[in-house]
Amino acid sequence: MELIGPDDSRYDDLRRPALPQYHHIRPAAIARCSSTEDVVDALAYARSHGLAVAPRGGGHCFAGRSSTTGLLLDLSGLSTIAVTPAPTATGAEASLATIGAGARLADVYRGLHEHGVTIPAGCGPTVGIAGLTLGGGLGLLGRRYGLTCDRLAAATVVLADGRVVECSHTEEPDLFWALRGAGGGQYGVVTSLVFAAVPSPTATRFSITWPRTQAAEVIALWQTWAPDAPDTITASLAVAADEVRVFGATLAPFDPGPLSGHVELRDGLSWPDLKRSFSDEDVPDGGVVHSKSEFFSSPLPRDTVARLLTAWCELNFTPMGGAYNRVASDATAFAHRSERFLLEHASTDRIAVRRSWSIAHPHASGRLYPNFPDPDLTDPTAYHGGNHERLLAIKQAYDPHHVFGGSR
Ligand SMILES: Cc1cc2nc3c(=O)[nH]c(=O)nc-3n(C[C@H](O)[C@H](O)[C@H](O)COP(=O)(O)OP(=O)(O)OC[C@H]3O[C@@H](n4cnc5c(N)ncnc54)[C@H](O)[C@@H]3O)c2cc1C
Repeated sequence: MELIGPDDSRYDDLRRPALPQYHHIRPAAIARCSSTEDVVDALAYARSHGLAVAPRGGGHCFAGRSSTTGLLLDLSGLSTIAVTPAPTATGAEASLATIGAGARLADVYRGLHEHGVTIPAGCGPTVGIAGLTLGGGLGLLGRRYGLTCDRLAAATVVLADGRVVECSHTEEPDLFWALRGAGGGQYGVVTSLVFAAVPSPTATRFSITWPRTQAAEVIALWQTWAPDAPDTITASLAVAADEVRVFGATLAPFDPGPLSGHVELRDGLSWPDLKRSFSDEDVPDGGVVHSKSEFFSSPLPRDTVARLLTAWCELNFTPMGGAYNRVASDATAFAHRSERFLLEHASTDRIAVRRSWSIAHPHASGRLYPNFPDPDLTDPTAYHGGNHERLLAIKQAYDPHHVFGGSR
């Protein structure tokens, strides 16, 4: 473990997370960890110096939870990616992907593709695999294969007291359950994740655009089609100031359902190339973008859509359904298994975001995606539904002194 203090020339670059709203937070020190033992040493250092700790993977937490004035655990050195064949009961071929907790998504897709495999995961190329997995993990293969956490087969975790545990369905099963979708930074520091990998597909990227004047009509059609579309297609919807766009990836010949508009297709993309084609959608340089989001289990009424469009926020609709919803809500800590879509309101104007959110809110399911935490909303059942009580018990068993963040 290397300790970096405020006098080190690397300190400022290392302490800043991806989102500019948390750039002002200054840790007492940064522990650069490149092994499980480094994490054990870093936690011992924090204990002996009375410092709070925050693990950081990709540093994309919307609530700034990977920033601290105590000891920042920089896990970016834990970035190895390995693929091994795994025996299956049926004798079919399968692969396990073992990924260091500091790896970023672009490296994950590239590294796995060399072995002909991938995992269902998100689009932001610098998003961390650990943060994404621990809170769920929505992505372009999700309707086909489920959340990133649904493919998690095992993990190595350093607990608050310095013990290192392996967890899986058979070892530390309660902890393993909690790691699949409750949200990062709560039960221990994950140093390595093992996933049941899937074949790395060739896919078509599509984009259909309309002028913004057609937004109400497109939203109405999208809401009844995208969440029920075949598992092979993930079609997101973005309403911006000047245009409306339905875009995503399909593993089968492109079928736009009831939507017709100006279509652009890029066929035959390898999975890393397809993901790279979305990389312009990572954190933009510059100002703070505010956002709020919620799940919806039924379509928004037409008059609500009309009012939403007067709030002048960017609206991002992500379809659920498919494999996401074929898992029981208590099978993993991720409770949101009967939602139709996630709606995010985003703008540089915080007031506009609140206004837009409050127009849609009466029709929402009251549930929040743990990976899109909202500092305004403190009701933990919104994040965990009926799983909250079990998570509280697991927190008490694994981190009774709340060294890590509370059970949210
Ligand atoms: C530009 C952008 C694009 C995004 N795209 C997607 C997307 O396509 N799909 C999607 O589902 N989500 C997406 N998200 C949300 C993303 O899943 C969350 O922000 C996620 O928590 C980020 O993980 P991270 O490792 O990058 O962030 P961090 O801020 O490093 O970590 C997030 C949380 O997890 C904890 N944590 C991190 N590593 C560990 C570890 N090893 N052990 C224990 N706790 C840990 C942190 O302490 C923090 O509480 C996106 C976010 C942004 C900003």
